Amino acid sequence: MNIHIPFNKPSTTGREFEYIAQSIAAGHISGDGIFTRRCHSLLESSLGVPKALLTTSCTHALEMAAILLDIRPGDEIIVPSFTFVSTINAFILRGALPIFADIRPDTLNIDERNIERLITTRTKAVIVVHYAGVSCEMRAIREIADRQGIAVIEDNAHGLYGKYEGRYLGTFGSMATQSFHETKNFSCGEGGALLINDPQYIERAEIIREKGTNRSRFFRGEVDKYTWVDIGSSYLPSDMLAAYLLAQLEAHESIQDARKRIWNRYNGGLKEWATKNGVTLPTIPDDCEQAYHMFYMLMPSLESRQDLIAHLKSKAILSVFHYLPLHLSPMGEKFGGMPGDCPVTEDISDRLLRLPFYNSLTESEQQYVIGEITKEE
Ligand SMILES: *Cc1c(COP(=O)(O)O)cnc(C)c1O
Repeated sequence: MNIHIPFNKPSTTGREFEYIAQSIAAGHISGDGIFTRRCHSLLESSLGVPKALLTTSCTHALEMAAILLDIRPGDEIIVPSFTFVSTINAFILRGALPIFADIRPDTLNIDERNIERLITTRTKAVIVVHYAGVSCEMRAIREIADRQGIAVIEDNAHGLYGKYEGRYLGTFGSMATQSFHETKNFSCGEGGALLINDPQYIERAEIIREKGTNRSRFFRGEVDKYTWVDIGSSYLPSDMLAAYLLAQLEAHESIQDARKRIWNRYNGGLKEWATKNGVTLPTIPDDCEQAYHMFYMLMPSLESRQDLIAHLKSKAILSVFHYLPLHLSPMGEKFGGMPGDCPVTEDISDRLLRLPFYNSLTESEQQYVIGEITKEE
């Protein structure tokens, strides 16, 4: 059988080509054209956020959040060590010191019980990541942050259209960031968004995104010329990418339905094998509706994880591991990270394995993957 199952594969919904052609025909392919505006309205109305701004990546949306929070050298941010580098890097660029927090062993999200003891007078914000699109304990986290007067930023790269207590992820922090990278649920290759829930940041966000100018106000006719008013960079994507993205966002229900079916098939097909072999499948708390970003398994040991990756690879199935604990990375060590600082992160990172997961993964392909996993003892 000549089957090959990649870990990820981008797929289109059909309208991407039509919309890109329209954006080219409209003669506006730089940023903030009609497709960008349509993406903004769609995100704002479907999620109920006051302001959504497309960005060139989630990384850049995080950088904007760091500027908007006015992060300065010596400020501290509390972050999970178990995340993608950008969650932290964006704040380091402004001189912040990362304070690494460990994760919960069930959802692999920042452990809210660890946050309070990490807070000092220099703490500016806690950055939470809804790992695999399953919500952090936002009730407890908001309560701590409000009481201590620190900001909450949601790195919601995995969690678009997931919910916590019936409310969309991305609506809990003063700001939240999205990724539309090829590996995420909805994509335009490279892209992102900043969601702003606290209206005090809206006006300045538009300026920072437009190279520190008040160009957005000029285009709305609110000022008669635009000029340099603040620091900033070029954080807005081409309208051609927004055209591609709009097609994906308009199809968000069918995309999420497809991903839910894929997730449920893995979960159902692997349950019995997992129980027998000491493998843990993902935990979804009752108050969370997950965003179906990925399917992972926690193997009993590093060795069994590496063996399974190798076995699947020999059958042309690509499975991967992540994240390497950031407090133990060369950069993390420069900030004082030491083995033992985040024991759950260190343990999980050795044992986690992610299975192929993409919108167009077929039932028979999944059957093949499940068959090869359960055949392995
Ligand atoms: C993918 C990802 C990012 C970065 O997204 P880009 O759009 O590639 O910058 C940040 N944080 C998390 C948790 C991610 O998974």
